[in-house]
Amino acid sequence: MSALTLTVLGCGSSSGSPVIGCDCAVCQSDNPKNRRSRCSAWIEVAGKHFIIDTGTDFRQQALREKIPAVDAVLYTHPHSDHINGIDDLRAYCFRKKQAIDIYGNSFTMENAQSRFEYAFMPPCKHWNRPVLVPHILDGHGKTADIHGVSVQYFALPHGRWQVLGYKIGNIAWLTDISDIDETTIAALQGVEYLFIDCLMMEKYPSHLSFELAVDFSKKINAKQTYLIHTTHKLDFDAINAKCPPNVAMAYDGLKVTTEC
Ligand SMILES: [Zn+2]
Ligand SMILES: [Zn+2]
Ligand SMILES: [Zn+2]
Repeated sequence: MSALTLTVLGCGSSSGSPVIGCDCAVCQSDNPKNRRSRCSAWIEVAGKHFIIDTGTDFRQQALREKIPAVDAVLYTHPHSDHINGIDDLRAYCFRKKQAIDIYGNSFTMENAQSRFEYAFMPPCKHWNRPVLVPHILDGHGKTADIHGVSVQYFALPHGRWQVLGYKIGNIAWLTDISDIDETTIAALQGVEYLFIDCLMMEKYPSHLSFELAVDFSKKINAKQTYLIHTTHKLDFDAINAKCPPNVAMAYDGLKVTTEC
């Protein structure tokens, strides 16, 4: 058993909060918990450092949390808010003069290689580019050994796309999903920490609404659920007041620790 710590690097939706040019109450709020960078997590386990998604804000998140190294990146899907910070992985390649392993389904890995071709070439002597090694995680409910850590992954719908949800130790990270099938609900039964998509109060085709997120949290019987990928329409305090006792809004910088 090793301790596993997850830090929420960002819990915002694709625009982040505040939204550029928006003068709504949440965007103008003084509450730092209403400032949400793009959705991402840092996992420390057994001396390894994993990142879930390198979104547009990855550089600022890595500086804020002082992430010392990156051994692997687990990608959920290639929407820009989850992948466009990929270039800043080069700082970690440069420091160790080492490639970084990245993981995702075939669609995500192909998409990453076509959009960021230069990041998949062999290193040059200056290490001035990211040097990434793609690994495909296809299937559903399977387990992969990633740098000695067992990682279970689930293929879940995100509108018409398929994304990967991840379970590491007693923590599940399910962002950008519009449904959760029975197999996944069974596999995640009683998980200690569930981080789950909750775009807004209203229904949305490619994400979960508040009602659906709370409903899935009950079905999974999670001990503690945190809502992630929330838009500027959700005020931290107002939504927390509506949450059942074991459900809460996540915030940037939130840390949870469990066993793996
Ligand atoms: Zn997203
Ligand atoms: Zn706003
Ligand atoms: Zn998405």
